[in-house]
Amino acid sequence: MTSTFDLLEMICLLLPVAALSGWYLGKRSQRTGPSSKSAMLSTDYYVGLNFLLNEETDKAVDAFIRMLDVSPDSVETTLALGNFFRRRGEVDRAIRIHQSLMSKPNLTPKQRNHSLLELAQDYLRAGVYDRAESLLLELTNTVGNQLEISLRHLIDIYEREKDWEKAIHIAIRLQEVTKQSMSNEIAHYYCEIAEIAWSKGKIRTAFKYLKQGLSHNRNCVRASFIQGNFEKKLGKYKHALRSYKRIEFQDPAYLPEAIFLIMECYEQLGEHQALEEYLDYLLHHCPSISIVLAHAEKVKEKQGKEFAAQFLANYMHRHPSIRGLKHLIEFHLTRVMGEVRNELLMLKSLVEQLVEKKPIYRCGHCGFATKLLHWQCPSCRQWAAVKPIQGIEGE
Ligand SMILES: [Zn+2]
Repeated sequence: MTSTFDLLEMICLLLPVAALSGWYLGKRSQRTGPSSKSAMLSTDYYVGLNFLLNEETDKAVDAFIRMLDVSPDSVETTLALGNFFRRRGEVDRAIRIHQSLMSKPNLTPKQRNHSLLELAQDYLRAGVYDRAESLLLELTNTVGNQLEISLRHLIDIYEREKDWEKAIHIAIRLQEVTKQSMSNEIAHYYCEIAEIAWSKGKIRTAFKYLKQGLSHNRNCVRASFIQGNFEKKLGKYKHALRSYKRIEFQDPAYLPEAIFLIMECYEQLGEHQALEEYLDYLLHHCPSISIVLAHAEKVKEKQGKEFAAQFLANYMHRHPSIRGLKHLIEFHLTRVMGEVRNELLMLKSLVEQLVEKKPIYRCGHCGFATKLLHWQCPSCRQWAAVKPIQGIEGE
């Protein structure tokens, strides 16, 4: 169903053609009287418009395509018309229009490339990625704005199809064309192929890919996580610890994710004193509730729940936290009986419900909130933009 607003937009698109058609008619009638060719252009325009007004869109499209045969000047308008249908989700009509354009022998190279890009975008919208890919690859031999747009679309296709090696290749090309860094994306593509190599038992290759990822972006937190995980699985706790501890310098916002892995490595190595010193160091340099809770666990093991509760309460006075409150209640629960215990249990249940409803991570680019850590935001598709939430409800 064509809305009044859509119809108005379409008529605005076609106005230049109407004006042009009128101008032709005027010029020619001055010299030789109305020619049949110009009259045809005018007729197709009005026939098309009439079909549109009667919501017979396919017939309107046919009339506008015929208009192309008699006036090469209507190419830009036809491109805009196709674009209009694609934006409305009428991809089949957009494809018909752009395919008709491509079949015209008198297009200039610029018009042909523009039509090619529009058609590729129609296929992308329709989810026909193989056809879009072959058209976009053709455009990578061009220069200018269409080249950059084509490379960006190709990266999008390869990301969706998880063809990471091709994504790396095109991202490097895009970097050369725009002079803008793609190192963040490239490092993540290497992380993806490292995990695939590991799953196939290609351990050395997996480490090689991680090294390549870090060579593109030495601040790639994900590469450090994966490297630590691989080394931990191989029982190389010292190496794993080195990888995890790198995260503090790459992006401390992710440190809460690594803290329990770091503790596990220290414990496997039997380095309990070194762990306490490290937690103490983190408390002063990059405090967060996860680090405070990890520290409180250590206090509990060594000095008991009362001291752990006191330690946690001291921190909570300065940095209130819902997660901290939940643990504080748990520390006190074992020390009280009767009515107070029942009230604490009720309070604990309320806090748990509150924590349960809250997201843990948020995308710094689009604001998408989630309970899972995604390396690529499912909403805006940015890499490494989803991070642990800070503040009273988060870290
Ligand atoms: Zn996002």
